[in-house]
Amino acid sequence: MIESHRTVVTPIRIGSAMIGIEAGTEMDLDLRLESVSEGVLVTGTACGETAGQCSRCLEPVEDTVTVFLTELFAYPDSETDNTTADEDVFRVEDDSIDLEQALIDAVGLELPMSPLCREDCPGLCPDCGVALDSAEPGHAHDKIDPRWAGLVDRFTDQGDGSVSNG
Ligand SMILES: [Zn+2]
Ligand SMILES: [Zn+2]
Repeated sequence: MIESHRTVVTPIRIGSAMIGIEAGTEMDLDLRLESVSEGVLVTGTACGETAGQCSRCLEPVEDTVTVFLTELFAYPDSETDNTTADEDVFRVEDDSIDLEQALIDAVGLELPMSPLCREDCPGLCPDCGVALDSAEPGHAHDKIDPRWAGLVDRFTDQGDGSVSNG
């Protein structure tokens, strides 16, 4: 069995549009590689810093993600290799394993679908779009009853006065 503690730099961005590990970010890998009958079993953790956007108020969010890996990399011509579809198992290729896809998959599953800057982020004002966290307390707008809105529009048009209908 081999134990591997390494720091790698992500070659590409991992994650979704809302949050992810940026390309060029260092990830700490703490892995054990074990030879089993069907291949190499990789277990351990990987962690790295994430950068994203709060899904409610759009403020930047920085966090750390830690994933637990348990991946079998099947030997060529092993039972697993021969009986499992290509996309369902990783493989040992040229005596080496490529962790990249395994990491991308694991991190993708671990990242939140809707990242939040904090649990009770109030988000944006639905009327003017200001972040309610930075707005004055009790931020609100005078609302015009929708039944009156058409009337108000008409008054506004007449108020212009600069156009004549000839
Ligand atoms: Zn927020
Ligand atoms: Zn507002």
